[in-house]
Amino acid sequence: MLLLLFFYFTSFHTPTGSQTQNLRIGGLFQHETEQKAFHLATDLINAKYKDSSIRLIPDSHLIDNYNAYTTYLTTCELLQKGVIAIFGPSSIHSSPAIQTILDRKEIPHVETYFDRKLSRHDCLLNLHPHPSVMSQAYLEIVNKWGWRSLVVIYDSEESLAKLGLFAASCKQRVTLSRLELDMYDTFRTSLTSIKKTGETNFILECSVDILEAVLKQAQQVGMMTERHSYIITKLDLQTIDLAPFQYSEANITGFRIFNPENAEIMSLADQIYTQEKYKGIPSGWLLRHQTALLIDSVDLLHQAVLDLTLSEQVVIQSQTLYCNTSNNWDSGHTIVNYMKGQTIKGLTGVVHFDNEGFRRDFTLDILELSLGGLLRIGAWSFFSGLSLNRPPNLSKVKIVDDANLVNKTFTVITCLTTPYGMLKETTQQLFGNDRFEGFGIDLMDELSKMLGFNYTIIIQEDGYNGNYNQTTGEWNGLIGAILSGKADLAIADLTVTAEREAVVDFTLQFMNLGISILYKKPKPVPPSLFMFVSPFSYTVWILLVVTYFLVSMCFFVMGRLSPSEWTNPFPCVEEPEYLINQFSIRNSLWFTIGSLMQQGTELAPIGISTRTGAGVWWFFTLIMVSSYTANLAAFLTVETLVTPFSNVKELSEQTEIKYGAKRGGATANFFKNAGNDSVRSRIWHFMATHDEEMTESNDEGVERTEEKHYAFFMESTTIEYVIERHCSLASVGAPLDDKGYAIAMKKNSSYRNDLSAAILRLQETGKIAQLKEKWWKEKRGASNCGAQKSESAATPLNLQNVGGVFLVLFLGTGLGFCISFVELALRVYSTTKKTDQQFRKELIEEIKFFIRFKKNVKSVKPETH
Ligand code: GLU
Repeated sequence: MLLLLFFYFTSFHTPTGSQTQNLRIGGLFQHETEQKAFHLATDLINAKYKDSSIRLIPDSHLIDNYNAYTTYLTTCELLQKGVIAIFGPSSIHSSPAIQTILDRKEIPHVETYFDRKLSRHDCLLNLHPHPSVMSQAYLEIVNKWGWRSLVVIYDSEESLAKLGLFAASCKQRVTLSRLELDMYDTFRTSLTSIKKTGETNFILECSVDILEAVLKQAQQVGMMTERHSYIITKLDLQTIDLAPFQYSEANITGFRIFNPENAEIMSLADQIYTQEKYKGIPSGWLLRHQTALLIDSVDLLHQAVLDLTLSEQVVIQSQTLYCNTSNNWDSGHTIVNYMKGQTIKGLTGVVHFDNEGFRRDFTLDILELSLGGLLRIGAWSFFSGLSLNRPPNLSKVKIVDDANLVNKTFTVITCLTTPYGMLKETTQQLFGNDRFEGFGIDLMDELSKMLGFNYTIIIQEDGYNGNYNQTTGEWNGLIGAILSGKADLAIADLTVTAEREAVVDFTLQFMNLGISILYKKPKPVPPSLFMFVSPFSYTVWILLVVTYFLVSMCFFVMGRLSPSEWTNPFPCVEEPEYLINQFSIRNSLWFTIGSLMQQGTELAPIGISTRTGAGVWWFFTLIMVSSYTANLAAFLTVETLVTPFSNVKELSEQTEIKYGAKRGGATANFFKNAGNDSVRSRIWHFMATHDEEMTESNDEGVERTEEKHYAFFMESTTIEYVIERHCSLASVGAPLDDKGYAIAMKKNSSYRNDLSAAILRLQETGKIAQLKEKWWKEKRGASNCGAQKSESAATPLNLQNVGGVFLVLFLGTGLGFCISFVELALRVYSTTKKTDQQFRKELIEEIKFFIRFKKNVKSVKPETH
């Protein structure tokens, strides 16, 4: 061991004859152990380069994480002492305050904590791998483990923020939820709440100080069984006591950035144990990654300073700096840039930075807790990704073999359900897969061509897709066949449901659908006596009547206002004593109804205003009458169809028509799991109490619907297929839900992703749509009902259809009104000019007369000259 120690500390020495230069380096930390680790790091590196001309003198301080002001003062104090770099702190909170001053003063700032910022300050170097890089490692493990959903368990917002990039990148493939550990309670309460959700995959991101307690309490609440898997993100998993969990059945995976068994770490442990001043620093197997990163960072600085000094590029002289002056250190940037360009071999592997100032060249060991303790099962690096070397006898193996499907042979099970899987109709004798055809068979064929696998089709004789039997605890149908290992893949009209998803894996859905009702086509109703009302909606009728009265009144008022409408009752008398007006209330009502009925009256408007009003009214009546006639013609020629129910609610409320669904299918289960939905519950109550109405297959349901007073709940895609061939049937109401069909396989199957990707490609290229067209619209008696498609039913015209004409009418009548006022004013003006009367007084008098509305006779005033 001493030999090793000697080797480690002497292997990189740089002999030089020059005098030793002492350079002060600052450290700002929250905990005493970090402070000690910093001193240890400096001592180690000074010993490593003991023959060099550079000696680093550590000057460290404890800071309060939440007191930025004292941190600022301590930083200034260090700058006054002429430090050439500052290390720490290890928290997101105090870091920004320090970074700003150091950037200004151009002093290298070296950090070793998990900083998620996407860019690095000029003077900042962080040796901790960036969260974006770490996220890729987590993601690859999650994919390899085949997780479809997971819960992130975290202890603080800071911890959660570290996983932000991971969450963003896996969101599309994995259902992700999160749970914050209640730090003021036992963790059991939080863990029990997540246990109740039934989730079994967890990413645990919490401080290493509480990690052991969290795992222990997870074990106490029963979350360490063979069903449970954990990925622990902290790089210090090996430092906690995992013995209590070794025999649990849970799968625990973690990462480390250095191997604690390597010679350097072991010799370091000796050093720590033997010296009192380092007491309390976890070492050997317990060495934390932060300490290792700190040692590497001091090493990096020492080498940079030494190289620069030896190559005489810069003379490194420490300088006293004050926070309140504008001076800065000239050599700072040179050192930082040199450090960024350097590559050293440290305790945590290769220390090298890319252009953005992040470490990417390191390798993470993948660890798994086995019966014998933590086992290295593989490695991950940014450039070569994940490589696993998992012993096959590891008891908790969850992953499956390599996902390459070329030349693999699968047993594919299907049901004989039209049009997904059917027997070929031929007189020849067929063998093997050739015996079958259908949408599902063609789809499997396309997938096998794309991915290069072979397959043998077998048939699920009872025709069930998969139903869980509560009493026996077993699945039947296709799902049962997958679980028992009878088949590798199941393809049919197999609906993805939460219950099935819990026991098997599904690919992406290849078809989307919803539950709908299959029933007989609506029947025509006998014509009604009052058919003539139908062309307009009730609103339009009411509006028409109101408009008629309003317009008539407008004619009456306009007639009175317009001077031209006051006419001489005796044309032979040149100077009559009085004038009469044809637009009395009765005449106005008669005039408007006459034109509305397209008949006409003796009345003929004379004034410009009344003529404008009449023109607009005639236009209105023209449009309304033509619309009425056209729509009445449609009502007389098109048959009106009625269904006894138009949605699921109406069906559930009546008793005459019986209804059902395929027994044990996803549709029946949709009603069974109705929860608080009263309509669905009512339907399920009927189905449960009338088992004879449930069918063994979709075909049986279709037959009953055609022959009896029966409605059948069926999936919309199958309804589409049926109504294309059974012309007396139709789909009633909107779909009740939204789901899809997919291919099922055993849980954690490695080939699921490949099959999903292939389905996606088939969807994108339009192949799946083509197959649907072929089996729905072309094959096996399709398009039978095309010619019989009924024309669309006539509907009453509503306000939206005729609203425009009403608007034109109102505007036109308004215009007529305005004109009648102008006419009156002009007439009064010309009269007053001749008679030297006052225009205003005369106008008011005229208006007063008009609004008395009593007389239709107006006396003529003698003209005074
Ligand atoms: N597709 C359904 C299932 O997977 C069967 C048909 C149905 O229930 O409507 O169970």
